[in-house]
Amino acid sequence: MKCPNCGYENPEGANNCAQCGAPLAPAAGQQFQQSQAQQTQQSQPQQPHYTQAAFDPNTIPEEYKPISMWGYFGYELLFSIPIVGFILLIVFSVGGTRNNNLKNFARSYFCFLIIAVVIAIIIIAAGAGAGIAESFSNMR
Ligand SMILES: [Zn+2]
Repeated sequence: MKCPNCGYENPEGANNCAQCGAPLAPAAGQQFQQSQAQQTQQSQPQQPHYTQAAFDPNTIPEEYKPISMWGYFGYELLFSIPIVGFILLIVFSVGGTRNNNLKNFARSYFCFLIIAVVIAIIIIAAGAGAGIAESFSNMR
């Protein structure tokens, strides 16, 4: 079976092209030709095309695996554990996970935490400053 995208000769019955990963099923192939026509000028056979078939959870590479709503919720709970959560946050932020979604989520959570800590410090410092000023005025 010839690949509609790159022309690579694939064994009969294959679902995806061994060369470029394009779906080979008749219905999906038609859909694929449509998207291919839109970018004939910059057609690069090696580049993966993200058609409907590419979003099949079983074919998505680990790097781009989506995280479900409860997945994010679970990680949020995990990150809010004192000390342990913070360590995990740093580990995921610096690349302790292959998943880009989790990495970016950890980084955004980390930034959020830094801002929250800075604001908390400002509020505490302002409160302490006011307290010191008050105790000075009471001494007189
Ligand atoms: Zn192909």
